[in-house]
Amino acid sequence: MEQMKWHQMGTSELVNALVSSPEQGLTTSEAAERLEKHGRNELSEGKRVSPVMLFLNQFKDFMVLVLMGATLISGLLGEYLDAITIVAIIVLNAVLGFVQEFRAERSLRALKELSAPSAKVIRGGELMTIPAKELVAGDIVCLESGDRIPADVRLLEANSCYVEESALTGESVPVGKHSAAISEAELPLGDQKNIGFMGTMVTRGTARGVVIRTGMDTEMGKIAGLIEQTESMETPLQHRLEQLGKILIVVAVGLTIMVVIAGILHGQPAYGMFLAGVSLAVAAIPEGLPAIVTIALALGVQRMIKRKAIVRKLPSVETLGCASVICSDKTGTLTQNKMTVTHVWIGGRQLEVSGEGYEPSGSIFEDGKALDVKHDLSVKRLLQISALCNNAQLMKVEVEEPKKRKSKESHEEWLLKGDPTEGALAVLSAKLGSSSKSLEQLYKREKEFPFDSERKRMSVVVAHQGGRLICTKGAPDMLMDHCSYVLWDGKVVPFTPTLKRKCAEAGEIMAQSALRVLGLAYRDLRAGDVCETERDAECQLVFVGLTGMIDPPRREAKEAIATCRRAGIKTVMITGDHQLTAEAIAGQLGIMPRGGIALSGKQLEAMSDEQLDRLVDNIYVYARVSPEHKLRIVKALQRQGHVVAMTGDGVNDAPAIKAADIGIAMGITGTDVSKEASALVLSDDNFSTIVAAIEEGRGIYENIRKFIRYLLASNVGEILVMFLAMMAGLPLPLVPIQILWVNLVTDGLPAMALGIDQAEKDLMQQKPRSAKESIFSRRLGWKIISRGILIGVCTLGAFWITLNEAPGSASQLMKAQTVAFATLVMAQLIHVFDCRSSRSIFHRNPLQNKYLVLAVLSSLLLMIGVLYIEALQPIFKTVPIGFREWCLVFVASGIPTFVMGIGSVMGTSKKKKTKTKLPFGPKTVAR
Ligand code: ATP
Repeated sequence: MEQMKWHQMGTSELVNALVSSPEQGLTTSEAAERLEKHGRNELSEGKRVSPVMLFLNQFKDFMVLVLMGATLISGLLGEYLDAITIVAIIVLNAVLGFVQEFRAERSLRALKELSAPSAKVIRGGELMTIPAKELVAGDIVCLESGDRIPADVRLLEANSCYVEESALTGESVPVGKHSAAISEAELPLGDQKNIGFMGTMVTRGTARGVVIRTGMDTEMGKIAGLIEQTESMETPLQHRLEQLGKILIVVAVGLTIMVVIAGILHGQPAYGMFLAGVSLAVAAIPEGLPAIVTIALALGVQRMIKRKAIVRKLPSVETLGCASVICSDKTGTLTQNKMTVTHVWIGGRQLEVSGEGYEPSGSIFEDGKALDVKHDLSVKRLLQISALCNNAQLMKVEVEEPKKRKSKESHEEWLLKGDPTEGALAVLSAKLGSSSKSLEQLYKREKEFPFDSERKRMSVVVAHQGGRLICTKGAPDMLMDHCSYVLWDGKVVPFTPTLKRKCAEAGEIMAQSALRVLGLAYRDLRAGDVCETERDAECQLVFVGLTGMIDPPRREAKEAIATCRRAGIKTVMITGDHQLTAEAIAGQLGIMPRGGIALSGKQLEAMSDEQLDRLVDNIYVYARVSPEHKLRIVKALQRQGHVVAMTGDGVNDAPAIKAADIGIAMGITGTDVSKEASALVLSDDNFSTIVAAIEEGRGIYENIRKFIRYLLASNVGEILVMFLAMMAGLPLPLVPIQILWVNLVTDGLPAMALGIDQAEKDLMQQKPRSAKESIFSRRLGWKIISRGILIGVCTLGAFWITLNEAPGSASQLMKAQTVAFATLVMAQLIHVFDCRSSRSIFHRNPLQNKYLVLAVLSSLLLMIGVLYIEALQPIFKTVPIGFREWCLVFVASGIPTFVMGIGSVMGTSKKKKTKTKLPFGPKTVAR
């Protein structure tokens, strides 16, 4: 097949060569067969790290290698039990690390799968969306502005279609595409204008084509190695923690060396001190930190997926928690995008339409009386344009009753495929007897000038028995400029300024009631009239009338906006719709405070950057804006220090989405281009999902802080108890295996359980944290150090008290070491509950996180086992301790929590509750 010159072929040759049909496409079974035979439409990926390598990587850590070396020495010296136990602990640690990293890696891969591209194909005569990797040669694909071309496609039809091919040809200016055969045989890629190449992007217009090559056979496949590498998934916090980890290694090793030297100087045996030192270093280095951070992020991301937010770029999870402004589209995000035409204005007459949803039943009323459409030329014309200038399809489908699946009961429902705005117009014409299907027989579409949010209108040229006709619909204020006549009382008359004003006023009245308003116009073409470009076509039009459609606000959006306000996050509506419609909806949703400003695209254009900067904090609605205005808005907000989340769906929204701190694309209505530029995709296009994602983002960050607090305070405690003991000339309070055991038991499961802890109740009542905030800010550093000191001192105290009961006795030393071991473990296990609250253990129900309770219980059991199972006692150098010692353990391990708890209770009672102060606020600015 590669020898064929696809660009030279005409439609029939193409279809014969690929055994397909332009109207019906392939059948599902034929496509499945071809997929089986030729493989998936995928570019081969780089090699993944195998699980075995991932496991072996766990032993690459320098300190673990030193410990293994030391273990080998102790083995050679005949300390077999010690050596075997240490190796077992190291392997257990590696298994834990492996499980953590494997889970993290798997979730990241699942994330990538979720954002995999899809393609619109015709199979068995039906338009459907399938994963792009399932495309096969012969499939008929439909392309529209914003789509990334999913395979190499020979175009069969192209309407004002422009494709950006820089990924392939280096040419950054979009290339106009057509469907005609090109006779020349040898053509460079850039000149193959009837072929759409995989990975390139449709920037304007629509097209339909047949797949000629897939996967590695495509032009992109040939250079697969050269195309963009996958972005790094490491977040800034992970990067910072990696740096911190390095510092901690140096500190831990430095302190360990001091401990070893002090021990040796005080007469401890050098070999024993060396092993204790290495064990201490292994325990003190928080090697699990990066993996737990990844797990907390990955599990958080999975929770977000459940709440319909798909994270495409992991770093955005952190940024989400800092968001201070959300700029949201209106249609479909804040509103339901379920449009119904309820009002029609035509030549000075106000009409009302009955009926709900997509069901085409209802009537049109004038002054309360049903109108006979058949005899009303103006209304008939309006319905004709609504049906013809329309790509939406209305169909009746059978839907199973969800509750009665077993009894297979079903009912019929009307379903819409396509743009809801067009759907509303299709329903309107179908209601009143002029369905698109019936008109399509009489009017053959010749050309389409597609809708885009820049032009805010769409036109089609149709041919019928009596001649040709152009039908246009779009935003009335934009459309009226292209109209020279108006249909008034059934007659075409010049569109005088007075009549124009009347039309505009009618539109404004509709918009004020939150209706989305569209104008409709037409022109009968005479023989010889050219319609090659939009300029030729969309002029001298006859304005027919206006349709007003309701698009109710999403119920949950209002609550979500209120939540945002409490969380110090400002919501801004950015819409292509009319200013009055936007203001009315903003009012219903509670977006606009008193004194807030609504700005139109035109006003925005007239402003300098300085003027915009002065007002931007007080603007809540931007209406009739074009996508490029969004970029200016993002930049202005960022200049004011905001962390901006910005939604978008169209191809032209991509720059703003990229520039925003959190670019958000729509999963249902969004184009591939916008999705690829985004950090977050909303699978339900819903505003409240953004707020849910922000809540999760905040929660994830707080959880990371929780286990950093836990791990580091534990490590400070471990080092300190050894350090102080050596400085004071005491014997070793913990033997090496005990140190390693504490590290394994306390750092593993409890830390992981903290990583998936529930968020605190007031999480969304705090203002956003600053993006520049250090992980140790808000007194976390202080909490770590002070708790570490308390744990270290109390453990040492318990050790010292027990030791002093019979100084010099070897069995008493073992008892004291056992007490120190138990105190250290207990103090850490109590501390883990403390870490759940930003205040203290007394502020949260400790049993709420059942994973944590289980993790702590299992750690406790493991500790008790080490103390009381006789076979384990010689390995861990422990002795069973009695009631008196347990009392000491409980008191010593409880003191840190008690002291810190009292401190925090006193702190909170002193501090008056301060109300969240918003980082912005309405200033009274004249409109
Ligand atoms: P958002 O609020 O998400 O920015 P929007 O739908 O309000 O989206 P656009 O899609 O850019 O904004 O639409 C702007 C205007 O263009 C609408 O107010 C309407 O008058 C007109 N319009 C919308 N869809 C179509 C369409 N399919 N054909 C013709 N005109 C349309």
